[in-house]
Amino acid sequence: MRAEAARESLKSKGIRLTRQRQLLLDLLERSGKHLDAEGLYRLANQLDPKLNRVTVYRTLKLLKEGGLVDELDLMHFEGDQHYYETRSKQEHAHVICLRCGKVEEFFGDPLQKLRRQVEAHFGFQILIARTEIGGYCAHCQVMREQEMAAAAEGKSQSKPVA
Ligand SMILES: [Zn+2]
Ligand SMILES: [Zn+2]
Repeated sequence: MRAEAARESLKSKGIRLTRQRQLLLDLLERSGKHLDAEGLYRLANQLDPKLNRVTVYRTLKLLKEGGLVDELDLMHFEGDQHYYETRSKQEHAHVICLRCGKVEEFFGDPLQKLRRQVEAHFGFQILIARTEIGGYCAHCQVMREQEMAAAAEGKSQSKPVA
């Protein structure tokens, strides 16, 4: 999102985009990853050592309330951890590997189609849509097969399963 648009969006909610807030928003935008609060703090602190954790947490809350940032739990792969990304990106689904935690972003027509179908079906006005898909990535499918084979072998030799 352009700095101007972000500023306007926050202003309409009575929130001022201070320099530190702008810095955090820029970092989220540029990282292209799904950062948690701690990860964002570490990045921000390198650029502005005066920026503390409390500011990062407060700012994330403000940006979320201002509709500039989305909070994700990514299938709770890491427990209660939450991740943040800017809303400026085109809508996408998060595809999460439940074994290694890798997160892929799926951009595609089916999401827009789903949106239109839900709106038509329920006469619903969608403000936000979030799609999360959990499973095993190609690498982890192979790993799991090996692990299960090893476990089965262990059992047949009546060794205790670790
Ligand atoms: Zn994986
Ligand atoms: Zn994403």
